Amino acid sequence: MAVRICPHCRTEICASDSAARSNDIVCPKCETRLEVASGSRTIASLAGLAAGAVAWKLSSNGTGDLAGVLPTLYAFLAFGVVSPLVLMFTANLRNAPALPVLLPADSSAPAGHDAGGHGAHH
Ligand SMILES: [Zn+2]
Repeated sequence: MAVRICPHCRTEICASDSAARSNDIVCPKCETRLEVASGSRTIASLAGLAAGAVAWKLSSNGTGDLAGVLPTLYAFLAFGVVSPLVLMFTANLRNAPALPVLLPADSSAPAGHDAGGHGAHH
């Protein structure tokens, strides 16, 4: 399974780019806007949650002043580390939705064509 490959020109996208800019990656070769497919994000998020749960479990038996805080901290750190790592290795790229094109309000109305400044040339 090809990961982090531009669907247009088969250029490999840098792993850190795919994790850091998963909604708005621009292919370095053909400059197509890409994004990480949602399936890959789900996998990465689930893996991160699993890592967080394991970290919580491992640290929840601790004693001491910070025993109530450390499991949360470790779970948070585990999620923050594992999730982007998994995303780097599993990310499939797809075309990002096209940016909305802003058209003048009257550009599609046939009547607007005659009513505009077009008549000055006649
Ligand atoms: Zn490309």
